[in-house]
Amino acid sequence: MEKADILIVGAGHAGAQCAIALRQNGFSGSIAIVGRESEPPYERPPLSKEYFAREKTFDRLYIRPPQFWDDKEVRLILGIEVARVDPAKHLVTLSTGATMEYGQLIWAAGGDPRRLSCDGADLAGVHAVRTRADCDQLMGEIDGGVRRIVVIGGGYIGLEATAVLTKLGCAVTVLEGASRVLARVAGPELSAFFEHEHRAHGVDLRTNVVVASLVGEGRVTGVKLADGSVIPADAVIVGIGIIPAVGPLIVAGAAGASGVDVDEFCRTSLPDVYAIGDCAAFACDYADGTVMRVESVQNANDQATCVAKAICGEARPYHAFPWFWSNQYDLRLQTAGLSIGYDQAITRGDVATRAFSVVYLNAGRIIAIDCVNSVKDYVAGRKLIEAGVSPDPAVLADVGVALKELI
Ligand code: NAP
Repeated sequence: MEKADILIVGAGHAGAQCAIALRQNGFSGSIAIVGRESEPPYERPPLSKEYFAREKTFDRLYIRPPQFWDDKEVRLILGIEVARVDPAKHLVTLSTGATMEYGQLIWAAGGDPRRLSCDGADLAGVHAVRTRADCDQLMGEIDGGVRRIVVIGGGYIGLEATAVLTKLGCAVTVLEGASRVLARVAGPELSAFFEHEHRAHGVDLRTNVVVASLVGEGRVTGVKLADGSVIPADAVIVGIGIIPAVGPLIVAGAAGASGVDVDEFCRTSLPDVYAIGDCAAFACDYADGTVMRVESVQNANDQATCVAKAICGEARPYHAFPWFWSNQYDLRLQTAGLSIGYDQAITRGDVATRAFSVVYLNAGRIIAIDCVNSVKDYVAGRKLIEAGVSPDPAVLADVGVALKELI
């Protein structure tokens, strides 16, 4: 039977970075990565941005050149899933039926796009945007003349895809179930700003919408809403979040409700099993210890490095600063910190200029900042959050005062 000292499940950002950091920290044992997709590890953020817009070719998305993995003696086992985990025997069963032993298991399987549960969800022409294959299929349809696209979900995926599609000349309708877009990740002011921007680009953006079903014979031709109206569609994009891919670990007895629970060293409740990235639920220092998953490249990379260091004898509790970004049209949104639990939001600058920031406070302390085309505020805002300062709100709102002066 095959054995890897370190077996990493998932070839995304977290899995790839963990292998990279293990080698960087001197780990000389055997490392294998099992990945469901057939490509070597690649960056996901460009899938809804530059790759989708054809501004970057796929070969520019690799996290490392394909040869790197051979050079570093990291075995890539691609196009295969881990179906079962036997923690007592330190053994996994692959989707091929083969078994593999591990010394330590690092679960970095991410998540699967949440699917609609209504009628028509399986029709041809209904797409997720999570993998290269998803993106290629959609791009192929656009090349084939698809023009009217309904995007279900006004999160990052839906809105970034909308910005690209609009640029490509498609007529886009966005249907968001909540009362505002980006509700999971940003405050109301930012949501209103992005809603206005999309509408200004000709997007039919609707909130508080309930999708009843997708209609069509074999292929989708429209989206039926709860009020009975049907929006014609040549294709549909579904961006309604992810479901953490932790099934085999939970079946094996790992603790977890949404995702798999990990401690401050990213250890699950199973012996010698870590979990990192989108699927790992941890008590987050930047959200007053709330147990949560953080779905971001930053979190994937930093948890991966934390685990690699622990394995190499340098264990330190995970305490990485959260940050995110999104590109839509000519707007660059950069977020530092987590706004969960904020009780005051202060806008810096004039939203109409399309360059402004929103600072989020909790009991007077800065906990997060959203910056639109405002790099200086982002850089200084990060430092203010890390320092845990409580500036005068009136001063924060004054764009005449640079945030860096408050550090
Ligand atoms: P998301 O950020 O969770 O947003 C999904 C949105 O869809 C939410 O606003 C959600 O509202 C709404 N929704 C859920 N069910 C719906 C329904 N039946 N009809 C209409 N709207 C519905 O997820 P995502 O945009 O799909 O992104 C997937 C993952 O990729 C996330 O981890 C995201 O962070 C990541 N991603 C990140 C970036 C970035 O950082 N720039 C870019 C792309 C993707 P409720 O919350 O009310 O359910």
